[in-house]
Amino acid sequence: MTQKADVVVIGGGPGGYEAAIRAAQLGLSVICIERRIHKGKPALGGTCLNVGCIPSKALLDSSHKYHDLKAGYAKHGIQFGEVSIDIAAMQARKDKVVDTLTGGIAGLLKGNGITWLQGSGKLLAGKRVEFTPHEGEIEVIEAGSVILASGSKPIEIPVAPLVDDLIVDSTGALEFTSVPARLGVIGAGVIGLELGSVWSRLGSEVVVLEALDVFLAAADRAIAKETQKTLTKQGLDIRLSARVTGAKVVDGKVHVTYQDAAGEHSEVFDRLIVAVGRRPVTAGLLSVDSGVSLDERGFVHVDGQCRASVPGVYAIGDLVRGPMLAHKAMEEGVMAAELIAGHHARFNYDLVISVIYTHPEVAWVGLSEERAKAEGFDVKTGQFAFAVNGRALAADDNAGFVKFVADSKTDRLLGMHVIGPGAGDMIHQGLIAMEFGASVEDLQLMCFAHPTLSEVVHEAALAVDGRAIHAIQRKRK
Ligand code: FAD
Ligand code: NAD
Repeated sequence: MTQKADVVVIGGGPGGYEAAIRAAQLGLSVICIERRIHKGKPALGGTCLNVGCIPSKALLDSSHKYHDLKAGYAKHGIQFGEVSIDIAAMQARKDKVVDTLTGGIAGLLKGNGITWLQGSGKLLAGKRVEFTPHEGEIEVIEAGSVILASGSKPIEIPVAPLVDDLIVDSTGALEFTSVPARLGVIGAGVIGLELGSVWSRLGSEVVVLEALDVFLAAADRAIAKETQKTLTKQGLDIRLSARVTGAKVVDGKVHVTYQDAAGEHSEVFDRLIVAVGRRPVTAGLLSVDSGVSLDERGFVHVDGQCRASVPGVYAIGDLVRGPMLAHKAMEEGVMAAELIAGHHARFNYDLVISVIYTHPEVAWVGLSEERAKAEGFDVKTGQFAFAVNGRALAADDNAGFVKFVADSKTDRLLGMHVIGPGAGDMIHQGLIAMEFGASVEDLQLMCFAHPTLSEVVHEAALAVDGRAIHAIQRKRK
């Protein structure tokens, strides 16, 4: 018998499962097809929950605690015996966090009356979806609408083919069973910096090879400069303009060659992480006559509201243009579900937050100073450091600063940029302000609680007009 559903979602990652839940909330019948088997068990949650955001943050937090214990407590007058690490226990905790969350998503789908089909989905012509279960017969589902949410996978580069647990992608780098003495990382992007930090804190000597001559090209230059300085001080050896020409395993060690302006170099590592970006997963997703077109980079082509080239078919998340971020995928999923249900829906692509979960964290939203100038704004900026913030000093966590970018003609906030404690949370103050079209003066007029890290946000807003209180500012008005 042919199954029918108002909505069929292919992919149960953050984009797909949020789309499915929102569609069900709106009274639609929903099937979600997800094929992932994680550690032997079918799993929802996609890259994010299984091999991305969550396990990486679990290891970032564990490694941060270890590093803090080793280095940061004596000055608080706290002493204890020798600190050691048990990587197996650390990994087991990470796996438990993942299990808890992926199990939670299964419960949410069930509770919302959504059918989870375990296996692969393929879009056929006429909004029909072919479902190939892990076990059993292929069947065809008739859908009122289809949401494609198959996500992305790591890019592999021919010069550094993956080899067991020695040359690995991000998934492999989350599973190391011991701390490599020397760790190479190709790519100084978000994954390279986050996972490089994890293993560096646990004791690896980490060398990061980045092909570009600029560090964190998408970030505001002041933030990128401070991040590079801070991570270098923490021990990450970041080499820019380094083009890897080969990587191979010899006698259990990874031999890497790369070129920069000074010529050809070689390095020997115990392990190598390849983190050079991700690409959309479209293999097996679309029949030749599905009618869905891809763009020149292999992403499913969509309009500003995630409509694909076939009426009633939507595509969201890492499968489509824009930053590959879980929260972007989630909001696109909600938008697609609401449009299918006939509601008005929008997504403000200008205000998608970026966070790098190093320590200190790095986060930004809106325009960088450079971007704002390139877009023709008459820019004014203000910056304030955590160094003199009472709460940050009390917590002994006072590196970094907050920077605002604003339009000097209208006083409107254009961007907020933070490197510092809790940056990933603090940045939402800028998001909310900008979503409401706030001016710098709006922030200046607010009363921020004392002593809090957020006072740096207030001071940075004051600094835009040369009137920060806890700094000697020359400009006065
Ligand atoms: P995915 O999460 O990739 O989910 C797609 C799912 O579809 C997969 O589970 C796949 O099995 C399934 N699928 C594919 N094809 C089919 C098919 N034909 N049939 C059935 N199922 C199919 N983002 C952040 O915002 N914050 C972070 O801190 C962060 N950290 C990350 C850390 C790492 C190490 C990595 C790798 C990524 C990280 N990301 C982070 C990115 C984030 O994981 C992705 O942007 C997000 O998962 C994309 O969601 P999605 O739903 O589009 O796709
Ligand atoms: P990325 O695009 O962030 O960084 C890849 C880096 O590798 C770039 O700097 C690029 O110039 C460099 N590179 C590319 N080819 C190279 C080569 N041959 N040699 C040396 N360097 C090379 O990609 P990523 O770090 O792999 O992350 C993938 C995606 O996952 C990103 O889009 C990111 O948004 C997402 N992610 C997000 C978070 C977060 O939000 N905190 C964390 C991890 C991953």
